[in-house]
Amino acid sequence: MRDKNKLSQTSLDRLNGVDDKLIQLVTLAISISPVDFGIAYDGGVRDDIKQKELFDKGYSKKDGIKNKSKHQKAKDGFSKAFDFIPFVNGKPCMDKHYYFMIIAVMFIAADMLNIKIRSGANWDSDNEFITDQTFQDLPHIELL
Ligand SMILES: [Zn+2]
Repeated sequence: MRDKNKLSQTSLDRLNGVDDKLIQLVTLAISISPVDFGIAYDGGVRDDIKQKELFDKGYSKKDGIKNKSKHQKAKDGFSKAFDFIPFVNGKPCMDKHYYFMIIAVMFIAADMLNIKIRSGANWDSDNEFITDQTFQDLPHIELL
């Protein structure tokens, strides 16, 4: 038996200011995921300056000013998105197969919690995750 995966303190800290529904989602997902994961650097709440910086680097399609990202705080004071990163043998792993395994777990956990989410691998929320996206943001999960 493998040990159940658990969020590190670093990941929990990075979720500070993120909507509680998403924290519940991550907590459930990590407990059932066959692949370990954590919350990415800059993967939680972003202020306007950080969002603009990521936009300028081409990591995000939202400039943070005219186009707000769900990583920026909503009116209720909480952000509605997080980015995760798979861990394989304790190390970050960018292989897309691992991302897709975890994305599937995120959707199962969301169903269990009765919340609606969207994956950055499937912006139009159809059944097609691989070829019909113009911008694939595999780490990104947001509340709908
Ligand atoms: Zn994101």
